[in-house]
Amino acid sequence: MANKPELKPKIALGIAAHPDDLDYGMSGTVAKWAAEGTDVYYLILTNGNKGSADRSISPAALTATRRAEQQAAAKVLGVKDVLFCDYDDGMLEVTMDVKRDIARIIRTVRPEVVMTMDPSVLYSADQGFINHPDHRAAGQATLDAVFPLARDYMSFPELLRDEGLEPHNVSTLLLLNFNLHNYVVNISDTIEQKMTALAAHTSQMPDLPATQARMRQRAALAGTAAGAEYAEEFLRIDIAG
Ligand SMILES: [Zn+2]
Repeated sequence: MANKPELKPKIALGIAAHPDDLDYGMSGTVAKWAAEGTDVYYLILTNGNKGSADRSISPAALTATRRAEQQAAAKVLGVKDVLFCDYDDGMLEVTMDVKRDIARIIRTVRPEVVMTMDPSVLYSADQGFINHPDHRAAGQATLDAVFPLARDYMSFPELLRDEGLEPHNVSTLLLLNFNLHNYVVNISDTIEQKMTALAAHTSQMPDLPATQARMRQRAALAGTAAGAEYAEEFLRIDIAG
């Protein structure tokens, strides 16, 4: 399959539910773009305060740990800034408050490319998983914020009136969909940064070598299909007009 013309955004914004989500799916692309001069920002919507089986750690301590892990991973990748909302892990809903928070960041950062998870993935029978409801909510709220809420000045008028945030058109969406893709990014030069970024999420990696091996194999499979050593795959939507 012919790839679409290569994206070289000046500014890109990854939006996800949890610390580590973006690093699994797109950190090779993030590191490549950052090295090429793209300003990449992360927006993490939940505080990740339920992502542990360790009964000795408090939710507040886990939040602090996971934020620090995400910031360490972002530093490895060359991410310019990581922005956090504080929605409870496991409780993210597609609400107007979440959409407003995302629209605010889109209008502030003003990215050409927004990256998030495809909210249409409910489960995969083949791969044996249910997509986390926070992932679906983050993806859905992001799509809604990109179009039309960040774009139209009469949506969330308080953002313009009270915060001076002008509307913004996002040009391209890159969605993580575990089955479908129409755009491939060669990450052969940044696969090791991806491995190091994953390693930064210590609290989420009970078996880091196994996780790294699985992610390396996935990137190699995507690479084989694309004629590269390693790649990441996306469903790309170039938003018309
Ligand atoms: Zn997650």
